[in-house]
Amino acid sequence: MEFPVLGLFCWIISPHQGIDLNFASLMHIIDTHTHLYLEEFHKDIKEVITRANAVGVAKFYLPNIDSSSINDMLRLEEHFPEQCIAMMGLHPCSVKENYKDELKLVEEWLKKRPFAGVGEIGLDYYWDQAFVKEQKEAFQLQIEWALYHNLPIIIHSRNSLQDCIDIVKQNQNGQLKGIFHCFGGSIEEAKQIMDLGFLMGIGGVVTYKKANLTEVLYKIPVAHLVLETDAPYLTPVPFRGKRNEPAYLKYVIEKIAEAKNLSAFEIIEATTANAQNLFGG
Ligand SMILES: [Zn+2]
Repeated sequence: MEFPVLGLFCWIISPHQGIDLNFASLMHIIDTHTHLYLEEFHKDIKEVITRANAVGVAKFYLPNIDSSSINDMLRLEEHFPEQCIAMMGLHPCSVKENYKDELKLVEEWLKKRPFAGVGEIGLDYYWDQAFVKEQKEAFQLQIEWALYHNLPIIIHSRNSLQDCIDIVKQNQNGQLKGIFHCFGGSIEEAKQIMDLGFLMGIGGVVTYKKANLTEVLYKIPVAHLVLETDAPYLTPVPFRGKRNEPAYLKYVIEKIAEAKNLSAFEIIEATTANAQNLFGG
């Protein structure tokens, strides 16, 4: 695989000064949360991955959604085994009448082969509140399976962050680890997450004007952050409104660097180390 090193060099070095460049780690930006198996990418996935590699994004962790996404996710992993890594879980928005069947499938898959994590799981009060009780039950069960298999959990929360934190707290026996994906909370919530030993996933939202995430980010040590796109969703500025893809992590990294007064290189180095530490390489 070839990387246009000079272009990457210019991006990393500018506008920051005095960076000790280590190209090996530059090549390992990790997108910890991306749905590259969805229909939006069926036509040009090769180009999408090539564009990501060209700016140093080298690994893609794929959270599952429900029974309808498993085959496409596993097929993508098969085509790009070095780069695309599958996870297994039931998304809270897919917790409906048939959630017990869906959960059974997740449980069976977790026994059948290794996955990098259990996700995405959690609570979503934004789209539908009809199944909150079932969402909590599904979240709890999947946390237990993650503990059993010694896997990190990938948490989706929408209008439900404190409830998600509370459930993680109740289950934290010193072994539970994972990511609060698409973190957009307050510094108080960030502190609780850090106390739990969890990481926060930062993506395109950080580039939105309305989000006061940059002020919160300033106070969160980089040791608690990982990068994510949630592609094809949550596209960063200047491509907001279009399909998101991992190459756009560049804009997220720049924004985090600006918010924390660090270089892009420092952000990449820390977030890659955090992700490798969580997923085990
Ligand atoms: Zn997602």
